[in-house]
Amino acid sequence: MYYELAPKLAKHNDDIAMDAALFARVKAVYDGRDRLALSPEEARLLEETYKDFVRSGAGLEPAKQARLRQVNEELSVLSVKFGENVLKENNAFEFVINNEADLAGLPAAVRAGAADAAKERGKPGQWVFTLHKPSLIPFLQYSERRDLREKMFKAYTNRGANGNDLDNRALASRIAVLRVERAGLLGYRTHADYVLEKNMAKTPQAVYDFLGKLWGPALARAKAEAAEMQEMIRREGRDFKLEPWDWWHYAEKVKKAKYDLDDTALRPYFQLENVLDGAFMVAGKLYGITFAERTDIPKYHEDVRAFEVKDADGSHLAVLYVDYFPRASKRGGAWMNNFREQSIREGKDIRPVISNNGNFSKPTADQPALISYEEALTLFHEFGHALHGILTRCTYESLSGTNVPRDFVELGSQIMENWAADPEVLKMYARHYQTGEPIPDALLEKMQKSRFFNQGFETVEYLAASFLDMDWHTLTEAREPETLKFDEEAMARIGLIPEIVSRYKSPHFSHIFSGGYSAGYYSYIWAEVLDSDAFQAFKETSLFDRATAESFRRNVLERGGTEDPMVLYKRFRGREPKIEALLKKRGFD
Ligand SMILES: [Zn+2]
Repeated sequence: MYYELAPKLAKHNDDIAMDAALFARVKAVYDGRDRLALSPEEARLLEETYKDFVRSGAGLEPAKQARLRQVNEELSVLSVKFGENVLKENNAFEFVINNEADLAGLPAAVRAGAADAAKERGKPGQWVFTLHKPSLIPFLQYSERRDLREKMFKAYTNRGANGNDLDNRALASRIAVLRVERAGLLGYRTHADYVLEKNMAKTPQAVYDFLGKLWGPALARAKAEAAEMQEMIRREGRDFKLEPWDWWHYAEKVKKAKYDLDDTALRPYFQLENVLDGAFMVAGKLYGITFAERTDIPKYHEDVRAFEVKDADGSHLAVLYVDYFPRASKRGGAWMNNFREQSIREGKDIRPVISNNGNFSKPTADQPALISYEEALTLFHEFGHALHGILTRCTYESLSGTNVPRDFVELGSQIMENWAADPEVLKMYARHYQTGEPIPDALLEKMQKSRFFNQGFETVEYLAASFLDMDWHTLTEAREPETLKFDEEAMARIGLIPEIVSRYKSPHFSHIFSGGYSAGYYSYIWAEVLDSDAFQAFKETSLFDRATAESFRRNVLERGGTEDPMVLYKRFRGREPKIEALLKKRGFD
């Protein structure tokens, strides 16, 4: 369906963006902007609107516009096809086990899940594993069968390059060169230049410099982690060299041996309602705002709860819906959404209506919803996006709340994870669901000790994918490279070690070839520099320092996209962000 609509939507967008009469009116306002005495926010709105038209080809001569339309149409079809292929290949793969011995090492719960999956697929009495993370990862972690781990791992990493009708190799390189051509038509050197102009990073060089600063320390840590696992292999009396399909398995063993930390021991301290109250408490201490449940306003599902958010002076700020449990018709993952964005219309401040959504562990017949620590962090993360939406005070919808550049938007959310994970704050909200006792020091200590666990690996596989993304999108030639060779060369340039592969290889890197993250995959860790550095400002004063919180609220959270993000950030921090806090947080200092 979307496959048919994509080129029509591309054409429709182009029809608007390249409408000469419409653009003439926008341009007339823009050209006369100096005489209009605009406020900074109005100036920003005009600038953004004008730039969006220009960046869509509004100012080009007709021949170039005609070619641009063709490029956009082809790109729209290819990127949908790319994503579809990945989905189909993900779903098509199944690894059927019919001999119980092949389950060696797998815990009972993992076996039960695989047995259920087999039943669902009409294979009762057998076990099915798939490439979906909840099936794949435990298999890689626990299976004692090295040959089978290799089989599963390769099935996962070879997606999109199997020579079948779902092969994405040619699509990836075609998409990349079409983007080269589009950048050229629009007057940019590369696609990355085109994309990054709108982000905080501004230029490809800035992104490369940034990734480069992290790469060295992360790779050094990953090498140390690999050596630790190799040593464990040796102690087991085996003599093979650690391979990528061994990493998860031995990481799990190292974790158990070194930290003795078990997810199930933590859960009783993370009852969903307590975690949500914890998030409300943190926001209250920081910004003086309150959350009161409202049962008299309409909800779209019985699982949903609604809260009215009020400012310290009692004035209405927003309505927040929280919707945390999975349902058949609900998409996966966690996210924040705006039902109504904030704006000022005819002098009236229209306050936002926001939702936080998740797919957290549900209550059972005899237990409330006990979520994992990771899920608790996710709850705080999405709540941070919600605060960005709740506290906003702007004039125009398109610039308010979370309508900010991609490499800036995760600041508001990720910073909340810092409070969620702070031992002092954990003591306040992580209480045993039966006894109400705060989380014991012994558990907190284990959490603290294990916080750098596997950070080398996680950072390296992520950074490798970020480099790959940038390499594709700094191409300047319209000559299609051979995709896997391109990957190999990109990884060789950064010196990726053979024990780790990029989080995504090009043939299944949907974020950049099908989603909106081309030349933008670096954003997550870019924003982590900001949130770590911003949180540092609290650590330098106190965890709930009201003056620092007030400054963060007024200069960042209230301002949406009304000014350049770096200007906003500097107003809060008094300087540009520094990378040190992130290095420290990941244990790379
Ligand atoms: Zn987020």
